[in-house]
Amino acid sequence: MPEPIIIVDDVHKSYLMGKEAVPALRGVTLNIHQGEFVCLMGPSGSGKTTLLNIIGGLDDASRGHIIVEGENLVSHTENELALLRLHKMGFIFQNYNLLANFTAQENVEAPMVLAKVGRKARKEKAVALLEKVGLGDRSHHYPSELSGGQQQRVAIARALANDPPILIADEMTGDLDSETGFAIMRLASQLNQDGMTIVFVTHDPRMAKFAGRVIELRDGKILEE
Ligand code: ADP
Ligand code: MG
Repeated sequence: MPEPIIIVDDVHKSYLMGKEAVPALRGVTLNIHQGEFVCLMGPSGSGKTTLLNIIGGLDDASRGHIIVEGENLVSHTENELALLRLHKMGFIFQNYNLLANFTAQENVEAPMVLAKVGRKARKEKAVALLEKVGLGDRSHHYPSELSGGQQQRVAIARALANDPPILIADEMTGDLDSETGFAIMRLASQLNQDGMTIVFVTHDPRMAKFAGRVIELRDGKILEE
């Protein structure tokens, strides 16, 4: 068995609220292998977003280790974390987080600008990715001119821009009606079948069915698999 692509080892996280430490994660241990399609579930406040953010290097653990593709996040500087996020992980959020003053194509190009991809290659890649997510004819539209489902497709195309091996999604279908949500999950399944490792959070058991493995969080701990 190859080394897991994501290793979470006894991770604890507390947030300081005034003088009081509020525990968000209380000893989470988890291995995810390349090509897995993993769903995190659990009630509101159980620590799902905290865990995704720590795996993504967007937040740091109070204790424990996180290793992504052999890189130990705990010992990384902010700069190293930014590079890791740029090349190893694509992020998708519930509210799409698109840049309002950028067209769909410019949004998809943005991570490639950061990765210093040349102008022509960037444009070609963005157009190809928008076609892949079924938005080939919307590349010059602004987010406000797109439906929620279309905006989420742009966000997926953007997440794929630098060919990351891992996709991390926090309630990506949360704001969508169920038909549109299913379409987004089918797209994620297709990406997973093409080899992408996906970790996603949902509240919706119908969306969780797309996953190969469901992990339940309760009060900052893994309940069962
Ligand atoms: P979930 O995504 O499962 O709803 P979160 O990971 O957002 O849960 O939150 C887990 C716990 O940590 C909750 O008790 C929440 O109030 C707390 N928490 C999350 N983020 C912060 C923060 N930035 N500051 C203080 N407490 C936080
Ligand atoms: Mg959350």
